[in-house]
Amino acid sequence: MSVAYGKVFLVGAGPGDPGLITVRGRACLERADVVIYDNLANDALLEYAPNAERIFAGKSTDHHTLLQDEINELLLEQARKVARVVRLKGGDPFVFGRGGEEALFLAEHGIPFEIVPGVTSGIGALAYAGIPVTHRGLAGSVTLITGHEDTQRHKPAVDLAQLAVQGTLVFYMGVKSLSHIAAELIRLGRAPETPAAAIEWGTFPRQRTIHGRLDTIHELCERERVSPPALFVVGAVTALSETLSWFENRPLYGKRIAVTRARGQASELVIALRELGADVFEFPTIEIERVEAPPDFGPIGAYHWVILTSVNGVDMLFERLETLGLDARGLAGVKLCVIGSATREAVQKRFLRCDLMPDKYVAESLLEALVEREGALEGKRFLLPRADIARSFLPKELRARGAEVTELIAYRTVKPQSSEQLADALVAYAPDFVTFTSSSTARNFCEILGPARLAALQPKAAFASIGPITTQTAQDLGLAVRAEAQEHDIPGLVQAIVRALSA
Ligand code: SAH
Repeated sequence: MSVAYGKVFLVGAGPGDPGLITVRGRACLERADVVIYDNLANDALLEYAPNAERIFAGKSTDHHTLLQDEINELLLEQARKVARVVRLKGGDPFVFGRGGEEALFLAEHGIPFEIVPGVTSGIGALAYAGIPVTHRGLAGSVTLITGHEDTQRHKPAVDLAQLAVQGTLVFYMGVKSLSHIAAELIRLGRAPETPAAAIEWGTFPRQRTIHGRLDTIHELCERERVSPPALFVVGAVTALSETLSWFENRPLYGKRIAVTRARGQASELVIALRELGADVFEFPTIEIERVEAPPDFGPIGAYHWVILTSVNGVDMLFERLETLGLDARGLAGVKLCVIGSATREAVQKRFLRCDLMPDKYVAESLLEALVEREGALEGKRFLLPRADIARSFLPKELRARGAEVTELIAYRTVKPQSSEQLADALVAYAPDFVTFTSSSTARNFCEILGPARLAALQPKAAFASIGPITTQTAQDLGLAVRAEAQEHDIPGLVQAIVRALSA
């Protein structure tokens, strides 16, 4: 009886930074039924396969690693069950990844397969460390070498004498045998003063590069407690990193920053912080909950102005129009006033232009701008879609000037179900900065953590706030605000953190 097998995709995940997977690799993940992954494949990549079953095949907490035979059997079993099996492997599947063995096994069993190459750490981590693997005049070759020892013969598994004693040498898995390898290379004629480096956790936010010479690198690595995953690099090119190092020179490199925004809203901040080198921990302290049946606000065309203060408010307004059987044309003749560039973008995405956007992103400036534009506000009708906890300053002031204000409570921000585990994980993570994008993020943060955890965080953690009102709330809660955005938006908040850290 012949067995119909699904296809197995051996996919290289790249060295760590999830952005370094190939387009093909990502497409395979998106269509996978099952993903079998191990330690070095960055977990973030699994998000590309939200519906796939995930099977971990790496070292577990009890340090049992699946034997290669067990992994092969697993591939066979899964290929029998489903159409598309992705075997996700760190770096490139064929570079010290046992991908060759797995592919041979698949071939022997007549299981169809595809190999999707990945950026191997021996190239990718070097790029992130600012080390060109070859360089005219400095290195005309690069050799990727396993640093594993042959445990039976207590010797390096590779005969170094047969390898180029020139060019760039990149050792994988060599942390333990580093002193041995270095001594052996010197014995074989490589100059002791040859520049050398070790790269730990290459391309991850916590990447670290240690520089030295062939005769000293071993001591330096011991002193700095370099531990796996790490690569050991030998050759003149490692010195170029002095000029070419970029990843570790970014303004927020090595900084741990917690983002407390609601998950759906956090990405802009998370991306901006990561791009500057920060290690970001998402710790949502608010959740946006739609108000199901907002009160009727009458014919929309009867308003003079709609004031939009958030992207959620814009979404809500359009949902309401939709339920009323209307579209953007329902806003004909109504002027739009927005606070914040993100809100403006949301309006522009609907092919609408804003009539007014105050220079400063606070209600006070908005009021000033309105008065300047309209003169008297007497009798003008305003519609304000906003959150239930938004400040009442604006409607109050508008009413005081004789305007008619209808507030449309668009959404509620609620405290998410707190997870003790996540809160403990945050404390263990020990952030340098915690960001607050509203007063409620600060208040909920304190409530979720509780006094004991807050005290544990405090000696190291500083707090960053989007504006004076949030700062005040945080300070009233006893939190030390070290950075406050000058422009009260996400880029402003990021800038404030960079400024505080470089001061
Ligand atoms: N197939 C992988 C290598 C697997 S062997 C690849 O192509 O990269 C595992 C070894 O790779 C580790 O012991 C370490 O030496 C190296 N390695 C993998 N990822 C690394 C990273 N992000 N930083 C430094 N070394 C890494």
